[in-house]
Amino acid sequence: MHRKPFVAGNWKMHASLGANAALLGATREAGTRLAGVDVAVCAPFPYLFQVRDLLAGSPVAVGAQNVSEHAQGAFTGEVSAAMLAEFDCRYVIVGHSERRSLFGETDAQVAQKMAAAARAGLRPIVCVGETLAEREAGEGVPVVLRQLDAAIDAAGPEGFSSAVVAYEPVWAIGTGRNATPEQAQEIHAAIRARLGRGGINASALRIVYGGSVKPGNAAALFSMPDIDGGLIGGASLVGADFAAICEAAAVSKGH
Ligand code: PEP
Repeated sequence: MHRKPFVAGNWKMHASLGANAALLGATREAGTRLAGVDVAVCAPFPYLFQVRDLLAGSPVAVGAQNVSEHAQGAFTGEVSAAMLAEFDCRYVIVGHSERRSLFGETDAQVAQKMAAAARAGLRPIVCVGETLAEREAGEGVPVVLRQLDAAIDAAGPEGFSSAVVAYEPVWAIGTGRNATPEQAQEIHAAIRARLGRGGINASALRIVYGGSVKPGNAAALFSMPDIDGGLIGGASLVGADFAAICEAAAVSKGH
């Protein structure tokens, strides 16, 4: 099954008007040149308008990093999926491990956010991943599948129709220690098998890897059969590095 590779940058809470303008030139160029890769940039909320304008006319999509599970109402500080859609957001990251660990998001809440995003026509990038302690206890696959099951139960197969799943081992995020291609491939294959059993068209769904992806390790990771691209944190803040990672996705997947 052909799956178009997907590479998304997660800027986290790093951005400024000036830095964004400088950074997006290289991303725009790479996204336009590499027609065989879907590229997205997930920016902090206040910059979505600017990022949309800077990327206008290019195939690079705009994404957000979080969304409320509620449609509207008295939820001070929250941003709804409909609001994001109005600003031309195509993607939204849901359930990043920093949101789970620092802001207490539960599997159930993450699944509700995913369903809210899908209802508004946004493509959720659903993050799953185990901690180092869980991996060392031999619990890597079960933890990831538990997180995935919660999302499948709440969002249903239709909630996954435009979703991307990001496998992000917590111990690899921002640590400089990436999962080996084989370690990541094992979990990606388990995720794909589980999605298939959930009535989802798993062979068409993109499962990307995140966790210390850099230009030097991207090609080896993306060469694995079930790794369809990457969710990129630190390296997405360096224009040339992010472009090189997009290029690695194109080359590894034969585009
Ligand atoms: C992330 O934040 O999603 C991530 C993968 O970060 P990094 O690439 O910096 O490890």
